[in-house]
Amino acid sequence: MPSHEFEQLQNLKQRFGYMFQTPLLGLDFYRGWLSDFISACEEIDAALGDDKRGFHFTQAKEKYGSARYYFSTNAVSPLRLSISDPNGLLELTTGLKDEHDVEKRIAIILHAAEKQSLHKCILCGATGKVRRFGGWLACACEVHGADQSGDALRSAVVRR
Ligand SMILES: [Zn+2]
Repeated sequence: MPSHEFEQLQNLKQRFGYMFQTPLLGLDFYRGWLSDFISACEEIDAALGDDKRGFHFTQAKEKYGSARYYFSTNAVSPLRLSISDPNGLLELTTGLKDEHDVEKRIAIILHAAEKQSLHKCILCGATGKVRRFGGWLACACEVHGADQSGDALRSAVVRR
């Protein structure tokens, strides 16, 4: 039986099909972060208005323990930079010029969703923090963080 999150994701893809036109599917969505992502898609749809400008996601993934959402429009494919310094990790979106005002708003919406994922368990969405699981980092709550092997976290991707 498909999970609740899978149904939510299918529903989202039906509502905003133009966002998910990526042929090679580099889109991974995580259970605990799905509701924030859905809210972000709703905000993006409103920001675009009637003209969708070729907006689509080019990649969605987990990186350094939090979500990353990459997009492209007919006008621009923004570049993403992750800069690590002693104060932490700085995420930048570059390549946006003055005339890309809608794309700038979209970048802000997606950065906000990414920031929320830093504090939410990748599996269940409860308050969590980024923890190390073997070789990788993931944001997990107390319950799911107890599985130090990371096995439980592997099922965090919404597949079905
Ligand atoms: Zn959890």
